[in-house]
Amino acid sequence: MSRLSKLLQFNAGETLASYCSRLAAACGYRHARSFATDMGFSFQKVVTGDAGHIRTFASVLDVSVNHLSSGIISSGGKMHEIAGEKFSRPSVQRLRLRFCPLCVREDEHLCEGRRGYRAFGRIDWLITANRACLKHEVQIITSEQFPSSKFNHDFAANLAAERECMETHLASLRHMKVDALQLYMHARMAGMKTSEWLDSLPIYIAATTCELVGGIERHEAGFLNSELDQVELSACADVGFSLLQGDESNFREFIRRRADRYFSTRRYAGGRSMFGRLYEKLAHHRADPNFEPVQRVMRDEVLNNVPLGPGDDFFGPVNERRLHSLRTAHVTFGVHPKRLMKSLLNAGHISSGTARTHGRTVLPADVMENFVRDAVNGITAPEARALLGASRRSLDSLSEHGFISVQGRKEDNIRTEPRYDAAQIETFLALLRSRVTCVPTAKLVPLLNAVHVTNCSYNALLDMIVNNELASVAWDQESVGLLAIRIDPDEVLAMTTEPDEFVNLKTVEIEIPSSFNVVRALVVDGHLPSIKRPHPKAGIPQTAVSIKALASFKQTYVSLANIARARGTRTRKCRSYLEARGIAPSFVAAEMPFYLQSSLPKV
Ligand SMILES: [Zn+2]
Repeated sequence: MSRLSKLLQFNAGETLASYCSRLAAACGYRHARSFATDMGFSFQKVVTGDAGHIRTFASVLDVSVNHLSSGIISSGGKMHEIAGEKFSRPSVQRLRLRFCPLCVREDEHLCEGRRGYRAFGRIDWLITANRACLKHEVQIITSEQFPSSKFNHDFAANLAAERECMETHLASLRHMKVDALQLYMHARMAGMKTSEWLDSLPIYIAATTCELVGGIERHEAGFLNSELDQVELSACADVGFSLLQGDESNFREFIRRRADRYFSTRRYAGGRSMFGRLYEKLAHHRADPNFEPVQRVMRDEVLNNVPLGPGDDFFGPVNERRLHSLRTAHVTFGVHPKRLMKSLLNAGHISSGTARTHGRTVLPADVMENFVRDAVNGITAPEARALLGASRRSLDSLSEHGFISVQGRKEDNIRTEPRYDAAQIETFLALLRSRVTCVPTAKLVPLLNAVHVTNCSYNALLDMIVNNELASVAWDQESVGLLAIRIDPDEVLAMTTEPDEFVNLKTVEIEIPSSFNVVRALVVDGHLPSIKRPHPKAGIPQTAVSIKALASFKQTYVSLANIARARGTRTRKCRSYLEARGIAPSFVAAEMPFYLQSSLPKV
């Protein structure tokens, strides 16, 4: 340590410029500049953090550079670097003296070294976002005086020039709480990470964003910094920081909340109307590129919440669309917003409770696009019927079965015409056509005829064709749509008629043979076992007799009428003949005697 460094000590938190300046003054120099020149280095180079000149300064003091490193401010291009953090030039006040009058007064009592030169310039005072003295909780004062270039950064000289006003400063001190943003910056510069998203931004970008967000919260979007005093600016910074501390989602939430206001106003969905000063600051043609991460989040969140798209501007031209309003859909697709609103209500995409003005009724862009294509630009029912060659009933049945889709229904007493997708109908017809296996022949009939012959439904026949179940499918070139299809009804019958183990009573009449009344009596009296079951095709309940039971019955019994017929005689004669031989009927059904086959004499 040289005599020089013992003259005044270098303080924690002091700038190197302030230390050099105080030493110069203590040694009787008017300017720090001439002192430095005499010592073999440049004061200006020390001010801007030049390593070589700082080394010379350190060697003059006979201390290590490390001893001084906390006071170095590296300036290059448009940036200053302090304690590893980047600051833009406007975020730091180096030209005019900024200081806490109480600290300056106290330094003389608390610090060591030559009297009169003990007050030192703090790094904290240079940063404009630091508005209050951490120790005294009073407003940091910015001198009214602009020093001549000879005294730039010359702390001791500038403080001496301020001395005559010091009493006034002390008398007019304003109490000021240290705001949360300042505390955050202080902690961050001491190496502490406390706020994920803000920590990811350059410190001055984090500070400016907090100040602007807080300003909007306290003064609406159009507020002007220049109209607010330091106490109010500090309050804004405090509010802004409390909103944005934490992760990125906090900033997103703020942007979403502001963007939501678009829906309760009649203003254009512009960046300026939603975000005022915040947007203007970031959208300015000379905006700092370090604001990019902030812009990116804003843009992302705005596009998610407000119907902006190509043709709009938000930090430059917007080239994608995530939301459509009725108005933007009108401009893009040419469909009238009133008609679109009605269709959307009917389709359930919006409810009458959530419908707003045309510009403020929004849907995800892809949903709106598909809807407009299907529902509004679709074809009408008569057009769909013409394409399909289908009746009104068939068209309804095809859509109910899901072969084709339909948009538009009756709801809220508003009815819109149903719309069909022509492309989907064409695809459906092409699918059916791809199932053609042969040329039309006389054996093949149109679908509707096949319905009558086979008792199968229209849709069931279409299902069979689609599922490749029919070997014979032809297409009549002369007919339109579904009318062109030709299929073989016998093939369908063979597929759909299951081998049945039961016969109906009509068949029993033929098989016995006997009259309807007699057959009914056989069943009712229990001589012929029967069941009740639904008709295999029509589904109507019917009485049926198992083939086995019928065969067994026929083997066991025979009616008088049948005996007479077999013997070529009359029933009365036949009956007398049997009675004469003591052969009695086993039972009588509807006045028709039945005999045991085994009891009859052989012919
Ligand atoms: Zn103070």
